[in-house]
Amino acid sequence: MAIHLLPEEVASQIAAGEVIERPASVVKELLENAVDAQASQVTIKVQQAGRRVIEVADDGQGISYDELPMAVQRHATSKLSRAEDLFNITTLGFRGEALASIASVTHMTIISRMEGADLGGRLQIDGGHLGEVEPVGAPVGTSIRVEDLFYNVPARLQFLKKDNTERRQIDNLVTRYALAYPEKRFQLWQDSRSALMTSGNNDRREVIASLYGVDIARQMLEVLSMEGDIYIRGFISPTSITRSNRREITLYVNGRPVQDIGLATAVVQAYHTLLMVGRYPIAVLFLDMPPEMVDVNVHPTKAEVKFRAGDQMFRLVQNAVRRALLAHTPVPGIDKSPYLGQAKWEDPTGSHTFWTETAFGSAPGTLPGDDPAALGSQTAFGPSRSRIPLLRLVGQIAAAYLVAEGPDGLYLVDQHAAHERVLFEKMMAQHQQTGASSAAMGITAQELLQPVTVNLPPASARILTEQLQILSSLGFRVEEFGKNTFLVRAVPALLAGMEPSAALLVLVEDFEEDEAPLQQEREARLIARVCKRAAVKAGHVLSTDEQRALLADLENCASPRTCPHGRPTMIHLSVDLLERQFGRRGAR
Ligand code: ADP
Ligand code: MG
Repeated sequence: MAIHLLPEEVASQIAAGEVIERPASVVKELLENAVDAQASQVTIKVQQAGRRVIEVADDGQGISYDELPMAVQRHATSKLSRAEDLFNITTLGFRGEALASIASVTHMTIISRMEGADLGGRLQIDGGHLGEVEPVGAPVGTSIRVEDLFYNVPARLQFLKKDNTERRQIDNLVTRYALAYPEKRFQLWQDSRSALMTSGNNDRREVIASLYGVDIARQMLEVLSMEGDIYIRGFISPTSITRSNRREITLYVNGRPVQDIGLATAVVQAYHTLLMVGRYPIAVLFLDMPPEMVDVNVHPTKAEVKFRAGDQMFRLVQNAVRRALLAHTPVPGIDKSPYLGQAKWEDPTGSHTFWTETAFGSAPGTLPGDDPAALGSQTAFGPSRSRIPLLRLVGQIAAAYLVAEGPDGLYLVDQHAAHERVLFEKMMAQHQQTGASSAAMGITAQELLQPVTVNLPPASARILTEQLQILSSLGFRVEEFGKNTFLVRAVPALLAGMEPSAALLVLVEDFEEDEAPLQQEREARLIARVCKRAAVKAGHVLSTDEQRALLADLENCASPRTCPHGRPTMIHLSVDLLERQFGRRGAR
């Protein structure tokens, strides 16, 4: 084939591919334009996860009648004119390619009127082909409607994820901007269901509440720090609120949401030693600095930036977060034991107390597992290879570990991990007895005295709606109760002591993990999650009876050596090892 210039249409489709990957990218570009146009109100309407329709309307400056055709040309922008300006960018857009890109892969209609103009203009573009501008009556501002995304590049459609995933991305995206611009009113409608609505009253905590729920929003710690021209503001979670991944660390640079692994690491490191391994904070941080300190033109979607002084930024963020954390970290104390004297650890039906009957009933000095008959029946659980020997309790140390003696040396048991394992196997056993579909007899549910309404952020609410059935098999009874609101009638008995909304969120957090594993696997993961929350924490002093009961329950487990998340529940120091260490035998 001879070398030739690509037809304009093909060239623009290629270019569009860089900017417009999925429905959320369209929403992002249109939102940014509305923000750049100084809108005080932005309404986004989405149908069929954005495949069918995306419409963004603002009350901003508008585009003049004559300039409408220009706005959709590639490299046409009102935000930048000279190359030097590239290093002094104060708008979200500047590349002049968003509208052109969107127009080339959709049917797009722009209606816009500038303040003072008698009439607005309407322009329709189909797959990049411009129609004529027509006069129309319209409110001041701009409304852009995009239909049939990728209708002329069907191959792209195949890269889209499930509708729910695409919707969630849009939810997340709009929320990110709503957080950055709390003085603007954002409304997001998905298939005429309201997914987000902010008041525009400049209260960021309120927007955080719509994302993470009121409870978390109330507990978030404020970050406020300034060094030279650089401001760092925002909110971070206290050490008691964590997530299983870094995705909830949201960073903004000069009002632009950015992905920056380095700065996210700075946030995580600020929590060093304050969070358990594998747990991450929630953070919403805004960095503001003179535009020349940051290059925003390193990526077509403008999602990444480069700092002139990256190391300094890292240090500033880390310090700001650390300072906020330390200012709020409470004095540690010893909590009341969650074990005895609290009904919440017991099954309300009385059929299945948390501690085995024998554990409570046994006389001091005898182990419930001592009975060889009982031991025999345990083999039904599975391979005995992983079994642990009968252990004699010695005591508890550091309010976190049990010390026990076995036939072959010393065992150190992590009380939290061990309890997690015990709860997990009990719940799995209950669950399997009756099958996933039967809500009535599955995991014991505890009816709440009074149903509680829980309001969830839109993204979580949608996930929850999809999972109501699994939830019921886990002992939750939850009903939809209006927009993003649920009525909780019962929670698993194991979580009965927890605030219902917190209990529910434990699960939603897990559902958010994207690619859905097998149903069974998912249930097991959920159960593991519930158990993690319900298990006794390090720092709880346990009575001797409680310690003994925990060991006995662990002995009864099919896989007692690891917690459901795979961490060890115990460390074994064999007599042999001890003897070597003390130089009694074979020491060289
Ligand atoms: P960029 O935002 O990088 O300039 P776009 O392709 O997104 O490029 O937009 C092109 C131009 O169209 C903008 O520079 C702006 O002048 C105008 N425009 C786009 N959307 C709006 C809007 N919602 N309100 C006012 N003007 C707009
Ligand atoms: Mg733009």
